[in-house]
Amino acid sequence: MNSPTAAAGGGESARDVFNSRLLEFLAASPTPFHAVANLAAMLDQAGFRQLDEGAGWALEKGQGYYCTRNGSSIIAFVMGRQPLLDNGIRMVGAHTDSPCLMVKPQPEINTRGYVKLGVEVYGGALLNPWFDRDLSIAGRIVYRDGEGELRQRLVDFAEPVAVIPSLAIHLDRQANENRSINAQTDIPPVLFQSGQGRAEDFRTLLAERFLDGEAGARVLDYELCFYDTQKPALVGLHRDFIASARLDNLLSCFVGLESLLAAQGDETALLVCNDHEEVGSASACGAQGPMLASVLERMIPDGQTRTRVIGRSLMISADNAHGVHPNFTTRHDDNHGPLLNQGPVIKVNVKQRYATNSLTAALFRQLAHEVYVPVQSFVTRSDMGCGSTIGPITASEVGVPTLDVGMPTFAMHSIRELAGVADAWALQRILTLFNNRGGSLAIAEAGV
Ligand SMILES: [Zn+2]
Repeated sequence: MNSPTAAAGGGESARDVFNSRLLEFLAASPTPFHAVANLAAMLDQAGFRQLDEGAGWALEKGQGYYCTRNGSSIIAFVMGRQPLLDNGIRMVGAHTDSPCLMVKPQPEINTRGYVKLGVEVYGGALLNPWFDRDLSIAGRIVYRDGEGELRQRLVDFAEPVAVIPSLAIHLDRQANENRSINAQTDIPPVLFQSGQGRAEDFRTLLAERFLDGEAGARVLDYELCFYDTQKPALVGLHRDFIASARLDNLLSCFVGLESLLAAQGDETALLVCNDHEEVGSASACGAQGPMLASVLERMIPDGQTRTRVIGRSLMISADNAHGVHPNFTTRHDDNHGPLLNQGPVIKVNVKQRYATNSLTAALFRQLAHEVYVPVQSFVTRSDMGCGSTIGPITASEVGVPTLDVGMPTFAMHSIRELAGVADAWALQRILTLFNNRGGSLAIAEAGV
């Protein structure tokens, strides 16, 4: 199965439509706040009802719902008509955040008349690719309006307003051998040259840009990050690849949502997309926080019933996986080198950096088998450390049987990552089956 089309199954045109919607979602979601707003808009359009975590909930069978926390995490679910105690909940997990450069609270730096912004590195960003990119800034601002009321707003400069120029090789002859990057001194992006009465205070610049000169309005605080303005694209001579920022892990958020929207309403299906995975998940809206547990509590108020249902459920934690890089093949175990466009990857780690076990992996393989999608597997080399994701954290917090899967990608945590055109579509087909497949998720004992 060497052709992407073969791995995808289904119609080429349906996949093309799916991928072009994926690219639009990636482009429109430069921050977790924007991603959640876009996911919520898609849910609204599909008739899901928004729930307020601060209000009482009355849930009806066959209806879809969602709630958000901090504007950067979202849980959406369909209350199925089938009995939860028999069939459990079909859960899919992903994360909304990606490594990036975030603007510091007092960011202004003026060096030789160049106005730059100090940045903090969010997550395990690969810093080299941030140089010589046409950068923009997006996120959330909180401001006091002209009447003295506090307000919040999502903002996006949506055009290249900054750049981090490389140092020329003539000024660092060792650049190709051993250039390292100091995050404090080497990467503050340049915004403009000072003078000519230009304002340099960043909050003033934000107010000028986004508050339309509203009299008395003042930006108080913000969470803003830099992002690359280059749009996501299909690349390669035969367009085998998707190139984009934030494939890790907005790709899985999009696939998870599309699969939930395809849920028919018989089975109870849930999608959780958490913020803060790239910095360890320990926050009120992160996977190590109480958000999912509290939603499950409100879906199934009785504690014993809830425990029994969770034990019969399955969480498919979808994040990215490292495809074996053709220029660096020795970084993978010879028998576990996932290929792009050859299907989703089941990720295994005996130290529980991934939550997969033989039961949860076999269920996933069976689902893939039923929709004719190939599956690959990944373990890290035994002489290298292993990454992790929300799977083991969610499993620890909630106690749900879990497995970790991922789309094979290159350049994980770069400002521009690379995935295959067939794999997101393939995962969407598996998860759509998962959300609609009737019956118990338990595997029968065959005796000893
Ligand atoms: Zn990830």
